[in-house]
Amino acid sequence: MPHNKLTLQTPIEKLFMVGPTYAKRLKKLGIKTARDLLYHFPFRYEDYSKIVPIDQVKEGEPVTVSGIVWEIRNEITKVKAKKITTCVANDGTGEIHTIWFNQPFLTKAIKIGDRINLSGKVESWGRRLRMISPEWEITQRARSGWRAADGKKPQATRYKPIHTGRLVPVYPETSRVSSKWLRSRIFPILEPLILQEKEWLPSSIRESENLIGISSALRQIHFPKNMEFVKKARERLGFEELFLLQLGALERRREWRRQKVSKKLEIGNWKLEIGNFIRSLPFELTNAQKRCIKEILEDLEKETPMNRLLEGDVGSGKTIVAAIAMYATFLNGYQSALMAPTEILAHQHYQTLKRFLSPLRIKIALQTGAHKDLKQTDNQQLTADNYNIIVGTHALLSHRTQFEKLALVVIDEQHRFGVAQRARLKHKVTPEDSTPHLLTMTATPIPRTVALTFYGDLDLSLIDEMPKGRQKVQTWVVPPRKRQAAYGWIKKQILGTGIDAPKRSQAFIICPLIEESESLKSVKAATVEFDRIQREVFPDLKIGLLHGRMRAREKNEVLAKFKKGVFDILVATPVVEVGIDVPNATIMVIEGADRFGLAQLHQLRGRVGRGKKKSYCLLFSSSTSTKSYQRLKTMEKLYIGHKLAEVDLKLRGPGQIFGTAQHGFLDLKVASLSDLGMIQRARRAAQRLFRQDPDLKQYPPLKEKLKELTISQVEPD
Ligand code: ADP
Ligand code: MG
Repeated sequence: MPHNKLTLQTPIEKLFMVGPTYAKRLKKLGIKTARDLLYHFPFRYEDYSKIVPIDQVKEGEPVTVSGIVWEIRNEITKVKAKKITTCVANDGTGEIHTIWFNQPFLTKAIKIGDRINLSGKVESWGRRLRMISPEWEITQRARSGWRAADGKKPQATRYKPIHTGRLVPVYPETSRVSSKWLRSRIFPILEPLILQEKEWLPSSIRESENLIGISSALRQIHFPKNMEFVKKARERLGFEELFLLQLGALERRREWRRQKVSKKLEIGNWKLEIGNFIRSLPFELTNAQKRCIKEILEDLEKETPMNRLLEGDVGSGKTIVAAIAMYATFLNGYQSALMAPTEILAHQHYQTLKRFLSPLRIKIALQTGAHKDLKQTDNQQLTADNYNIIVGTHALLSHRTQFEKLALVVIDEQHRFGVAQRARLKHKVTPEDSTPHLLTMTATPIPRTVALTFYGDLDLSLIDEMPKGRQKVQTWVVPPRKRQAAYGWIKKQILGTGIDAPKRSQAFIICPLIEESESLKSVKAATVEFDRIQREVFPDLKIGLLHGRMRAREKNEVLAKFKKGVFDILVATPVVEVGIDVPNATIMVIEGADRFGLAQLHQLRGRVGRGKKKSYCLLFSSSTSTKSYQRLKTMEKLYIGHKLAEVDLKLRGPGQIFGTAQHGFLDLKVASLSDLGMIQRARRAAQRLFRQDPDLKQYPPLKEKLKELTISQVEPD
């Protein structure tokens, strides 16, 4: 295909030498258009830039030699009968021998007389020099014998090397799509596409931040002249990611602030009732809870709807904070909705709210797949008229639910929702021009830098203090050789026969994290673990199994049985029910702990230690790497979700903090969320520009770019 037809939007399968098979594979890398390919960046470079005369190569160093092919042929080795291709190249100063394995087609691609680049490490082999499976590339064809596709006898064509003799980009790959393949497809489209990619970063910002233009950034990130250029390219491209995200957040914030509340609430008049309610609770609120409640109640009085993130470790008591906001809403004669990520959590919230709020004559409905309190009206809508509070899963959003008097929406576990759902909420549940107050709760310890970048449109309330009397969950990393002993110890604890364990208790066993979602694979792994535990480890204990593919009713039954003590041990998949509350469970065992993020482990650990009894968390790991062992060891010393998240941010990047459910969302291509300096630079630049021209009237290309980003965030996930 001639490249003059190539545009940024050209579907990937239409590109020269791609086709439907590769298009399918590339989808796994998120590449669907030419533009996606242009923005598929290398994550490192092989330095083959040193071209060395053969008589001067040193053993063990990565180099490129450039010589003429003297010999090339396929052979079968005497020992083990392996198929190999051998080649001898000579550059006038000496000769080098090369072996490739299982690539007999090489004798078709490489001809005697061709000039070839060979990149890799050189070793000595007897008195000769040898390279094993080097990168190779023809840079000049032999004059004779070879004809171009059009049948013409060619000039001695020279080729610009892209796989050898330079800094060679190494890309994120996927099955049967190699870096070499990507390189050879990106190279020919690079310049034509760069011509079409508009510069959208205002020149004032480029100048003040000393950033290179988009064209040279794209050129240099793929095929850099040297590492200095790589640095400049990554700086520009990383800056733009963070800049756009933060500009997007500023814009969302402004959009949100333009909304009017659907129902204006009055708080001052109800101080007494709210105070009485708080005094009636069976515990004293922590100072952090009080502060958050104050922040929320102040928001509720305003004309602009609240958009607040309530962040607090597992067990820090977020629910009661939300319940007080819902109570204040009720006092004003309006409705609240509470949405949970799973049916079980919805159910649990329903129970909790009923316990606290039913005595005050507040009517609470539960609406999930399994439990339906809301009535259908004639025109197929669900009416919530008879209730003050409606608890449900996010199915509440997709149902045509009528909330005549909705004033407050509480969403539990923010990270499973995100921007898309918030947008939907705004349009689904309420009339166009008005919005309910929105409170999102999360136990994910979002580091400040991440919050600023991704949630800059939300106000933040932090519960940074645990209720009094909570004890630390004693944590141990258990290496394989101690596994049996650990099982023995667990059994004593459960039966209440240990010296330090005078009473019976219960344990969770969490299966290793296999895939992001609750796939059949994870379910199978859990089932296998369940069988193993039941038959081989604790044949005389009662064991239950809980996984995400079970029906809601089954799940509830299993959980209810566990709560009642019918099961001693509950084997569960990792993605199951982050919020369940079982006070008598004192042991949390996590299999394959090294696969989890630290903050995730911390959340799981928070499932135990809810009652008065001393609780334990055992991290089983079969990984033998000391690095991974040291990382897990952090769990023995640190008990603050935030701190653990920061550690992981440094060690493993942001994906780990948010764990499984966050797939795709935090995938920054170039920027790093641990680069505080860069985040601040981008944030200040975004704020400056936004103050000066919030509608981006003077910057149409930037405006367009931002719109693209917003659309990609809001599209269904
Ligand atoms: P999370 O923040 O993880 O959602 P919950 O709201 O489920 O935590 O609270 C965990 C437990 O702590 C609940 O049983 C709740 O009643 C209790 N709780 C909440 N606040 C306090 C407090 N200030 N003092 C003692 N217990 C509290
Ligand atoms: Mg909770």
